Amino acid sequence: MSTDIAANIASIRARMANAAQRAERQPSDIVLCAVCKGQDSALIRQSAGLVDCFGENRAQEMLLHANQGAHAHTPVHFIGHLQTNKAKDVVGRVQLIHSVDRNRLLARIAALADSQALVQDILIQINIGAEASKSGLSPDELPALLDTAAALPSVRVRGLMAIPPPADSTENRRYFARMRALLTQAQTLHPGMPLDTLSMGMSDSFEDAILEGATLVRVGSAIYGQRT
Ligand SMILES: *Cc1c(COP(=O)(O)O)cnc(C)c1O
Repeated sequence: MSTDIAANIASIRARMANAAQRAERQPSDIVLCAVCKGQDSALIRQSAGLVDCFGENRAQEMLLHANQGAHAHTPVHFIGHLQTNKAKDVVGRVQLIHSVDRNRLLARIAALADSQALVQDILIQINIGAEASKSGLSPDELPALLDTAAALPSVRVRGLMAIPPPADSTENRRYFARMRALLTQAQTLHPGMPLDTLSMGMSDSFEDAILEGATLVRVGSAIYGQRT
């Protein structure tokens, strides 16, 4: 990997297109989300316009980057664990919240969106590796949360997100395939929802994720280098 941000992004796009072709999918159907946590605003600014969106992990850092003009006109997504009391800094400011994993947070987002007279797009985060330390809903809790969300007009569920445990390629693909099956299940349960997004795959796994149906990959270190 080089320190030339544009070259790094071009190389990732080429690898994404290659994986898409192997899966007989259109490269244009897969969104590249650049993960900006721990990165300098000037560096992030260099990638604005070259990536499809930015992924921010923490509300405070997102606001800092925004105030420093890092995102330019590129849309911002919130991808980190979201505390209920921080939702007010995020709702209405981002195109998509990836990390909704509990009723209380869902209700809070809906109330905030309602008070701003907007509809907030969200993903439901699944703890696909069933790791005690990780946030995310267990797969068997998904139908109930979808039912709750379906009754809230100010939130729109667009799909699912996961951060599987570190694994080799074979195991990664198994996790990603299970996520794809869960999305299909959700689509069957709620044919009226625009469930078109599967957010999965990072620097070391985005090709496997695309082979298993990811529509959005979240890539940080392969674009910017190691985080400070
Ligand atoms: C940090 C992070 C990424 C990107 O990780 P890299 O390995 O640097 O690509 C993706 N998704 C989430 C939720 C993250 O926190």
